[in-house]
Amino acid sequence: MADVVLETNDLTKEFKGFTAVNQVNLRVQRGHIHALIGPNGAGKTTCFNLLTKFLTPTSGRILFNGQDITHQKPAQIARRGVIRSFQISAVFPHLSVLENVRIGLQRPMGNAFHFWRSEKILHRLNDRAMELLAEVGLEEYAAYQTVDLPYGRKRALEIATTLAMEPEVMLLDEPTQGMGHEDVDRVTQLIKKVSKGRTILMVEHNMNVVASICDRISVLQQGAVLAEGAYDDVSKNPQVMEAYMGT
Ligand code: ADP
Repeated sequence: MADVVLETNDLTKEFKGFTAVNQVNLRVQRGHIHALIGPNGAGKTTCFNLLTKFLTPTSGRILFNGQDITHQKPAQIARRGVIRSFQISAVFPHLSVLENVRIGLQRPMGNAFHFWRSEKILHRLNDRAMELLAEVGLEEYAAYQTVDLPYGRKRALEIATTLAMEPEVMLLDEPTQGMGHEDVDRVTQLIKKVSKGRTILMVEHNMNVVASICDRISVLQQGAVLAEGAYDDVSKNPQVMEAYMGT
């Protein structure tokens, strides 16, 4: 039996009679990088919003480590370790790169604001934040104002702030969007690196990225799962080829 960490059973979301997500069954296996792909409007973002409870499902269930989390609040789900990468707009642009990671560390290291005057706590937070920046290759940018970080490095900071929250499952929303080749390669390798000991579910449009690092792929079309499997199988699926290429 596969070790499933995150699972949806007939997950459905309707918006005023329009079904954006239609009886979706996802099985995300522990330790895998799992891609959610599909044309625009297929329901990928809505799925992410349901998994993190930014939206409430119309019907269906979400299980995390076998426990029903369908009716939990976003903060409870995050506390359990299902963490969506912060969009850079949600990070404080005028704080330094280091400070942004330090803020992300509050949850696992206790509410640091209570201990703000404690030198010991501050040192621990700083040391851990520097470790995380080193892990994502941003050590030399620690003192930069976040707003000044080059575009290709901002996703690495999002990943660092997400890691600071000690995720068991990381949800990454189009991590290579809008990047040139070099940045795409760097972020792809970074995702591969941080996936060690963690599970990643990512929405990704770049098929080279999907082919190179993803263990499983779920293809969504018009809110429903069209195909699921390894890249080689899914990419040869005639229905998937038609959905993508219109052939
Ligand atoms: P994707 O991320 O795959 O591009 P989305 O999940 O954003 O797709 O959208 C799926 C469908 O649901 C689209 O047709 C979109 O217009 C619709 N949709 C998404 N959010 C809402 C909403 N809040 N109200 C009404 N329709 C929505």
